[in-house]
Amino acid sequence: EYQPASRVTRIRESASVLAAARVRELKAEGRSIIDLTVGEPDFDTPDHVKQAAIAAIEAGETKYTAVTGTPQLRSAILNHVERRTGILYSAAEITIAGGAKQVIFTAFMASLNEGDEVIVPAPYWVSYPDMVLANDGTPVIVPCGDEVGFKLTPEALAAAITPATKWVILNAPSNPTGVVYTRAELEALAAVLEENPDVYVLTDEIYDEIYYGEGQITSLVGAAPQLRDRVLVVNGVSKAYAMTGWRLGYAVGPAPLVASINKLQSQISSCPSSISQAAATAALTGDQSFVAECVEAYRERRDVAVAGLKAVEGLACETPQGAFYAYVKCAGAVGKTTPDGARIENDQDFVLYLLDSASVAVIPGSSYGLGPYFRISFATSLETIKAGVEAIDKAVRALN
Ligand code: PLP
Repeated sequence: EYQPASRVTRIRESASVLAAARVRELKAEGRSIIDLTVGEPDFDTPDHVKQAAIAAIEAGETKYTAVTGTPQLRSAILNHVERRTGILYSAAEITIAGGAKQVIFTAFMASLNEGDEVIVPAPYWVSYPDMVLANDGTPVIVPCGDEVGFKLTPEALAAAITPATKWVILNAPSNPTGVVYTRAELEALAAVLEENPDVYVLTDEIYDEIYYGEGQITSLVGAAPQLRDRVLVVNGVSKAYAMTGWRLGYAVGPAPLVASINKLQSQISSCPSSISQAAATAALTGDQSFVAECVEAYRERRDVAVAGLKAVEGLACETPQGAFYAYVKCAGAVGKTTPDGARIENDQDFVLYLLDSASVAVIPGSSYGLGPYFRISFATSLETIKAGVEAIDKAVRALN
């Protein structure tokens, strides 16, 4: 009889993947669901990117590439990273994979031994703790509530570091809160890291282009280039270029770590799809106006979503500075009773109530390690957002 490996039994399936599956199931049953769970752009991949992929197929670029990708993709990534961080990395400092998700997984696989700790500020992207666990590490969850703007503070970081700390994860713009760090905040975190020279930092910058402020976001390595030899900068084309299905992500960082990751990749996948590599090269080097257009669309949707949710009595929500999520506090609904007489004990109950009574799908904050909240995605039409907010408002009003 099949017995799963302990690394399988110690992790959970991704909460966002499960939520998406549940919505698909309900839709298949004929229910009309207002879906605010989606973690990907609703735009189509830009045409020039598709054309580059078609051209690659026709030119016979359909074979294995180097583990570290085609020379064209490598140089496109290095240029892009230099524009974003101000640092020119070398070819020995780059790894590519089937999505940022795979890069993060292999980074942990390449570096964690049993007992090694990874500091994960909460609320966190659902996958981090399980990726750490799958690779024999111990996630150390540091709650970062609304009182600290959902951000890791230097004090909390210093308090969480132990001799076993291997990594700290920083994700900005954050999934699920949309929070970004200022240069001053990054410098303050860097000061703590300078006192702890054995701690590595994984900066997940997958949403870096989806930013509603002036200019561009500051990356930790940009603010503190002295940390460059222990920061792994993770990014990819999924979110900025609406390319989630192409599965292409990358990271730049210290050459010895990257060499270990690439050694593993040589045994795991040999290389990501050559066609996706051609598409990603076109995305990174081609016309960038698509990104700006998407950001403007997200901004309008964000403003509608946030204004609507703020107006709901009992809910509270900050305006996200990046990404396409809002993290909504539902403490005002907890403790209340539904029209059916059920008591709402936590955000999971509230989210189930919204799904059952209002046909609105959102994801409970408990999945992100900080309740009572729920996450909405506004990477969907204005119409869906308005219908969702209205239905949530009605459902909240029906509580006693
Ligand atoms: N990191 C964060 C914070 C994300 O939200 C996601 C996708 O949801 C990823 C990484 C993974 O992106 P990719 O499609 O490149 O694997």
